[in-house]
Amino acid sequence: MTKKIVVIPGDGIGKEITDSAVAVMKKTAAKHSLNLEYDYKDAGGTAYDKYGVPLPDETLNACKAADGILFGAVGGDKWDSVEPALRPEKAILGLRKGLGLYANLRPVKVADSLTEYSPLKQELVKGVDLVIVRELVGGIYFGEKCESEQHNGAERAWDLENYSVPEVQRIAKLAFETARLRRCKVTSVDKANVLATSRLWRRTVAEVSEAYPDVELNNLYVDNTAMQLAVKPTQFDVILTGNIFGDILSDEAAVIGGSIGMMPSASIGELTSLYEPIHGSAPDIAGKGIANPVGTILSAAMLFRYSLKEEQAALDIEKAVDDALAAGWRTADLWHEGFKKADTEAMTQAILDNI
Ligand code: NAD
Repeated sequence: MTKKIVVIPGDGIGKEITDSAVAVMKKTAAKHSLNLEYDYKDAGGTAYDKYGVPLPDETLNACKAADGILFGAVGGDKWDSVEPALRPEKAILGLRKGLGLYANLRPVKVADSLTEYSPLKQELVKGVDLVIVRELVGGIYFGEKCESEQHNGAERAWDLENYSVPEVQRIAKLAFETARLRRCKVTSVDKANVLATSRLWRRTVAEVSEAYPDVELNNLYVDNTAMQLAVKPTQFDVILTGNIFGDILSDEAAVIGGSIGMMPSASIGELTSLYEPIHGSAPDIAGKGIANPVGTILSAAMLFRYSLKEEQAALDIEKAVDDALAAGWRTADLWHEGFKKADTEAMTQAILDNI
């Protein structure tokens, strides 16, 4: 059966890095006898220039019918003066909303050959292999808010945090399923000593965990988690958390890896899911052919794992990346004396050669 993949290169380095990832997907699919069809669509500034909107209906509709979406990046100085509602970055919010992407998965894996790039001591990051499962469409970011009101003679503003049991159940199930593909350990992160939403979160996660007796569950307060990520990041397998805590912790965890160009992500929906590197469109290096394609290639591996349920294909891509790095290949963002310098094409080829 043919599976449909929508590819959205976007702006800046988007085309270069998605070209690399699609080349890796094609070779991997051929190896595993998978039939994939690629449909290219516009979003971001590129779409604004052509159609006057950052997310054309045609793109959203194609995504709704896709088995998986590979996304490059959007944005750039060229569109800085465009009115806020039509800015390239609005395409991402439109896709999240239009596709019901309720969870964000951010793996942080530090290959042995890359420990030197981490701001933490090498012995602390060796072996780090965790994934943050963040709730993406609820919590305080989407609650009722008040920009300004008078209260007891002073101006104040407020944002309301709320979570329902079904919202927590849905994300918790995803975290337990994700753990089953890994080392079977979930750490649920909240602030249950202070927040009512966190107490409902903790109770609901415990109930969901009863269906996963093979997965170990423990609870940690968010402040302690922030500290533990810096002092012993190897203790984590799957970190399950809400929208605002996940936003902050995923950026903290990302720097442990040391390079923004290496990090993949997935935004999971009930109908389809979207895969993209965590970095932006890097306008400063766009068109030079020197962008690091690894974050996008590892995002493609996640597409095989979570949307196509092809675990071995995902593992093949991840190993091909590890082997290319272990062989000494580095793009300009990571290169220093003693390594083999690769542009985007050479890095991609080094990875393709390992598949
Ligand atoms: P950025 O991630 O694009 O770049 C930050 C720095 O990292 C730059 O020096 C860049 O050259 C470097 N970099 C990023 N990815 C790289 C790669 N693959 N290889 C080598 N170097 C890489 O962040 P920014 O400069 O703050 O934002 C640029 C544009 O991207 C803005 O318009 C921003 O709104 C947008 N943006 C988009 C997304 C997205 O599409 N999901 C995410 C973040 C930022």
